[in-house]
Amino acid sequence: MTAPVRTTCPYCGVGCGVLAAPRADGVGISGDTLHPANFGRLCSKGSALGETLGLEGRLLAPRVLGRDTGWDEALDFVAQGFTRVIAEHGADAVAFYVSGQFLTEDYYVANKLMKGYIGSANIDTNSRLCMSSATSAHKRAFGEDVVPVSYADLEIADLIVLVGSNTAWCHPVVFQRIVKAKELRPDLKIVVIDPRRTPTCDIADLHLPLKVGTDVWLFNGLLAYLQQQGAEDRRFIEAHTAGAAGALIVADNTAGAVDAVARQCGVEPDVLEAFYRMFARTARVVTLFSQGVNQSSSGTDKGSSIINCHLLTGRIGRPGAGPFSITGQPNAMGGREVGGMANMLAAHMDLERADHRRTVQTFWGSPRIPDRPGLKAFDLFDAIHAGRVKAVWIAATNPVVSMPNANRVRAALKRCELVVVSDCMAHNDTLAHAHVALPAAAWGEKEGTVTNSERCISRQRSFLPAPGESKPDWWMFCELAKRLGYGEAFSYGSAYEIFTEHARLSAADNGGARAFDIGALASLSSAEYAALEPVRWPARAAPGRASTGARTPALADAAAPLSKGRFYHTDGRARFVATVPRGPRGVLDEEYPLVLNTGRIRDQWHTMSRSGKSPRLMSHLPEPFVDMHPHDALLAGVRVGELVRVITRWGAMVARLKTSGEMPRRMIFVPMHWNSTHAADARVGALVNPAIDPHSGQPEFKHTPARVAAFVVSWQGFILSRRPVGLADATSWSVAVGDQFSRYEIAGRRVPGDWSVWARRLLGAAPGADWLEYSDRSTGVYRAAHLIDDRLEACVFLSPRPDLPPRAWLSRLFAQTAIADGDRAGLLSGIPMDASADVGPVVCSCFGVGRNTIHSAIDKFGFTTAQEIGQKLRAGTNCGSCLPELKAMLKERAAAMS
Ligand code: SF4
Repeated sequence: MTAPVRTTCPYCGVGCGVLAAPRADGVGISGDTLHPANFGRLCSKGSALGETLGLEGRLLAPRVLGRDTGWDEALDFVAQGFTRVIAEHGADAVAFYVSGQFLTEDYYVANKLMKGYIGSANIDTNSRLCMSSATSAHKRAFGEDVVPVSYADLEIADLIVLVGSNTAWCHPVVFQRIVKAKELRPDLKIVVIDPRRTPTCDIADLHLPLKVGTDVWLFNGLLAYLQQQGAEDRRFIEAHTAGAAGALIVADNTAGAVDAVARQCGVEPDVLEAFYRMFARTARVVTLFSQGVNQSSSGTDKGSSIINCHLLTGRIGRPGAGPFSITGQPNAMGGREVGGMANMLAAHMDLERADHRRTVQTFWGSPRIPDRPGLKAFDLFDAIHAGRVKAVWIAATNPVVSMPNANRVRAALKRCELVVVSDCMAHNDTLAHAHVALPAAAWGEKEGTVTNSERCISRQRSFLPAPGESKPDWWMFCELAKRLGYGEAFSYGSAYEIFTEHARLSAADNGGARAFDIGALASLSSAEYAALEPVRWPARAAPGRASTGARTPALADAAAPLSKGRFYHTDGRARFVATVPRGPRGVLDEEYPLVLNTGRIRDQWHTMSRSGKSPRLMSHLPEPFVDMHPHDALLAGVRVGELVRVITRWGAMVARLKTSGEMPRRMIFVPMHWNSTHAADARVGALVNPAIDPHSGQPEFKHTPARVAAFVVSWQGFILSRRPVGLADATSWSVAVGDQFSRYEIAGRRVPGDWSVWARRLLGAAPGADWLEYSDRSTGVYRAAHLIDDRLEACVFLSPRPDLPPRAWLSRLFAQTAIADGDRAGLLSGIPMDASADVGPVVCSCFGVGRNTIHSAIDKFGFTTAQEIGQKLRAGTNCGSCLPELKAMLKERAAAMS
């Protein structure tokens, strides 16, 4: 048996090590026990990676104007288009829009081509939507985009403050590390600052449900409080920082009294003061922040206000202390390292600095280099809409779903003269507008590196052949470069050659001036690169020492950056930034009285092109939904379980209403993932306010004024079917892949004359087919099931109301080769004769354990802990992502019994 391949998870910024073992029946996936990010753990998404590797839906050949073709024709078409536009309108009329899914090597080549050879800085990335505010805050404070903390610091901290981060769902393995640390050291305090009561609150000692957008008031208040309590580190401030006085004056003027801050932030004064007290008294504090901070029109200031508190107390660059921006995407940090954003140069150098431009241009030997930033994501699509950018290459991202005001992005692409999209999938909302579609190699098919949230560079390794004509993205950009006349500078034969060039550039004219230095990796041999162990930067070359031949290179200084009070402004000092609080741009009014907040859910990733292929992952939350406070639902006249419209000034969508209990008043939450492949009308990006942060260009995904209204339909229902089903008659639909079937949730306004005729045609049941049906004209209920050779082929359930049978038991029947007589009897009720056969909706994706099974076990055995449930049912014992839900179920049950 061959050894599994050591690679890295392609989803979130935790960057877990994965062992991939190709077998005859697929690829076995497990956690890499040697990887320092996860030590063998994987979350539900990582565990299900093996289910996402099939070739269904893949783009396998280049396509020009809708016609399959070869690489030469496609790349010639792209090169001619780019050449023509540059000749007629200049270099700034073309652009690349790339992705945090890129490997560092892809990013490096695309950035080098655009900035060094085409001569524009018009390359931006979907990381702009994810962590660009944190990057701006880092640069303002430290002089360089440096994350000064690692995951190990979380485990030795005495206080962890989680701000705007549903860590339990969005960075589950980091969350599990925190849970473990708290189990081992119950004195470790956890504070969650988030308007929603998310599953992350499960481990919180304090939850501050602040009013959305008031973070700067809250942290200015903390800064003022720390000074009032004498908690500042005067020696550190004097020796290593500048600007404290100005920041303190602003903090004091805007948030000098705890009661006033509590009112502004909408939290209880004693809870706020308890948090301030904890922070003041604890030396080892990590403040971990994520999209709730970054995705805001004042995201940079929010980050700065957090960093100010760490600078004031000197709690930075020390073990167990520091501000920790955790990235959303697998290689958001790698993209920053190569300068893959419109306002950056390569290797953490600055476009604005002539000496940095000289260093990079000399190193590349390039004909030109821009001296001003290019267009950030939002401005880029605006420029396409206005006709200023006429040719764009979009790679590994789906902006027609993920950008704010996404309908305008779609309109922009419709107008664009040349849209090139490289992607591994054949169809998505953005590819629908591509003149040229280029097939990209996917995870497991290509080689390269990624950098996770804690600066750890890990290898992604291939373990599958690239199918069809698919190629790595770096190869495609090199081929374009050759056709533009820059072949010599882009003659790379492998990811290894690109990586070592990137490492050499990081050390060029550095000498300690920049924290990002991986010069120790520049002299790796190809074999050493192949075997490279995870390594955290900085990784400066030890003077006079070439590569040792070891898997981990000889480092001059592996200490954390910013330790010893060394920062990267020219004077070596950190900067306090005076942060004047500003509310979100959108204003609530009678027409739009609610705040729309968007984000991730536990088992999906971005626009679902990969996670949407996994039945396990789709079974957790299979439909687009809007979560709302029950009182607001009452006021809006909408009911749980029904379809509703969510409406903003920019767009509208349809989703199922739920009231999870997580939402505060006047806020709704909609997941970001659904797209036109998975639902008729559920792209939440189309609704999002296009307001952006003035420093970072990051959009305000957490605050769009909205309203919710009933979505009136005449009938609703669901279809489970082995074959694809045409949905032309449905006004609304969503689809989720299951184990050997697809699940369609449907609703319509036009009532067919005869449901039976309609259903037989839809489900492909010929006359004489094995067909069971039930129809009640008085109530409008219709149900039918189609069997072939005793196997369930499809079933449909319709009603004027959402009072439909549960889907879980019916779904499981598709795995049976023949329906038993006893189960036939239950087919049209959707309920088995033996009630215990209905496991209920999936809670634990890893082992397919359903809600009903867990409830029965709690009742039967009197379980009071998640561990007891795990011992009996295995739920929660693999990735642990469902542990907060298990605990919530235990609480519900205990409350019901009391
Ligand atoms: S936490 Fe989950 S999604 Fe994130 S890298 Fe680890 S396994 Fe992948």
